[in-house]
This record gives sequence, C-alpha cells and structure tokens, in this order.
Amino acid sequence: MIKAHNSAIMRESNQRLIVDMIRKKPLSRADLSRAMGLSRAAVTILTDSLIEQGIIMNGDVVKSESGRRPTLLHLNPNAFISIGIDLSRDGCEILLTDFSGNEIFGKKMDFLESAEKTVALICEEISLALTNGSNSATPLGICICAPGPIDSEKGMILNPSGLSLFHNYNVKHAFSSRFALPVYLEKDTNVLALAEKNRNNVQGDMLFLLADHGIGCSIIKNGHLFTGRDGMGGELGHTTVDINGPTCACGNVGCAELYASIPATVQKAGASSWNDLICRAENGDQKAMTALREQGKILSVLCINAVNLFEPLNIVLGGELTNADFVLKEMIENALDRAAFSRKVHQFHVYSSCLGKNARAYAAAMTALEYYFNGGMHL
Ligand SMILES: [Zn+2]
Repeated sequence: MIKAHNSAIMRESNQRLIVDMIRKKPLSRADLSRAMGLSRAAVTILTDSLIEQGIIMNGDVVKSESGRRPTLLHLNPNAFISIGIDLSRDGCEILLTDFSGNEIFGKKMDFLESAEKTVALICEEISLALTNGSNSATPLGICICAPGPIDSEKGMILNPSGLSLFHNYNVKHAFSSRFALPVYLEKDTNVLALAEKNRNNVQGDMLFLLADHGIGCSIIKNGHLFTGRDGMGGELGHTTVDINGPTCACGNVGCAELYASIPATVQKAGASSWNDLICRAENGDQKAMTALREQGKILSVLCINAVNLFEPLNIVLGGELTNADFVLKEMIENALDRAAFSRKVHQFHVYSSCLGKNARAYAAAMTALEYYFNGGMHL
C-alpha cells in the first residue's frame, strides 16, 4: 500500500500523489482508494477538485468483475507545460512538453558569444513558445541539463570540458531571474537515466553509461539517483584502468575516459568522426572494429567494477554508444559472464537506451516533471 496523508492540511500532498499515480496508468477512484488507504468519499473529494482544476479528467468506463462500471481517471495533457533545456558541447536545445510528455515545441540553437547572451536568447524563445496561442497551459518548471561537473544545488555549471562558455556560471539564477518558475540544474547523464527509467518503467537498479568527450555515468539505486554526498559520486569514467597511465584533468591517473571517450576512439580508428567510424565498422573495416573493441574492453571493465560494487540489474548504453551497440553489447555481456561474481546467480540486462532524438532536452523536461511530483530525486 502506498503511504497516504490523512490530515486535511495534507490535501495538496494527497492530490499530488493521485496525479503521480494516474500519470503512470489510468486508475479508477476505487483503485486510488485501495492504493492510498483512503475512503472512497475522501478520494472522490480530492479527484473532483483535480477535475475542476483541469489537471485530471474522466476517461473510459471499464467493466469490473463485480459488474460495476468504474470510470478511469486520466491525466489532462493540456494542464501543464514542462520546459527542458540541454546545454551540450554541440550547442543548446529547448524542448517544451505537455503534462503527458508529448513535445509541443522544440528548437536547436548555437551558442552566442557569451553565456549571458545565449541565456537571453533561450529565454526569448521560451517566452515566445509560451505565449503562442495554442499553448495556454501553465508552465510548471524548467530543468537545464549539462555535462558535469556541476553544482546542482547552487545551480552552477563548474568546469566541464568543452563547455568553457558556461564555466562557473550560475545558470539557475540566470533563468530564475527571467521566469517565476522552479528552475533545476541536473547532470546530463542523470536526466537521461531517470527518463530511461520512467519511459520504460524499468524495474531494479540501473547503471547508465554514455560516452562523449568523456565517459558519463549515472546510478539509479532503489528508484533514486545515487549521486553521493555532494552530488559528485558515480563518476565511473574517472576510475583508473591503467595505474601507469597519463594524468587526467580530474587529477587521477589512467582514467577510463582517457581511453574510451568518443574522440579517443575516433582517433584510434583514424576516422574523421564518430559517424564515419561507425559506418566503417559496419562495413567491416578492421581498424574501426579494433578501435571499437578497445573501447568495449574499457567499458566492460567499468561494468564489471560496477556490478561487483552494487549489482545493478540493468546496464544501459546511452548517447553515442547506442550506435556501437552491435559491438559493445555482446562484449560487455561476455565480459560480465566471465568476470562478475554474481553473474552466475543473477541475470543482468545490457541494452541501448530507447530515448532517441532530442533525448537530452526531452529527459530534462521529464526531470522538471519528476521534481514537480516527487520534490527531489536524490538518495
Ligand atoms: Zn579523470
């Protein structure tokens, strides 16, 4: 049974719980009553108020075993708008979704000459999209995602490589001063891992891995992001794979991302880009295949270490790694079969992220929704 709040002053909290349950699956008032441990009358008062506010709506009538015909309650997709912003090394993407996560506006932009000018332009685009006649819903929050390191609590982008325009820039403050809305800053891998979990209703702990200029990683444990005391945990890309290796920008030596990032792999293959490398590998080019297998070896080591540490049920390859899963997936599975203690006892699922295009901005918009429903996501 899901814990509900019985006090009248917890009405809003109970209503939020109802909306959170309905967004996962349409439910009847009887379903809600059972799940929350509240009387049917109490649930009816709460749901009537939500219907009146236009947040949920009556949907299909279903036949039950008892012969009664309960009405299923659905989310009203037009109730709210969620705003996701992706700040990546390749530029910026804005995505507005409705309350059900359907895209209603999207735009990609290049960075301008300063962080301030770029943010001003992003804000202008958002304001225009929100005042567009067809978008009358209320915005509920903005989530910005960026590569780490970031200070999520302060809303500050610290010094991620390849994103010097925003170094030590308080992006949360910049957006809060323009919009009277909750503004969140999250690491890109964190929003992707959460969106993956929610979109696919993934059960069990998850290790989410991606490669770009570095190796990004997020851990979901007991349904929540595991980010450590100061939000800097889970940096699997900065674990050592060669104790005699070169010094990494993080100060450690022989970090995995020095060997398995996208630029490092492209360089090893002598390719002009990641797409070129993938194309060559698919056509059987030996140098490209060797470079991908080298990357696969390093990623396998990281997965084995993670499995031996916390036994995630799901290992998800995200970002550019999804293009190389025809090599990487099998390598990682075989490596886990050979080397992870618990493989013989437990099954692990290794697969590619399903998020597809607009993944990062979409995942950021979904994270703003998560914050709305759950207040926070960190362990
Ligand atoms: Zn490092």
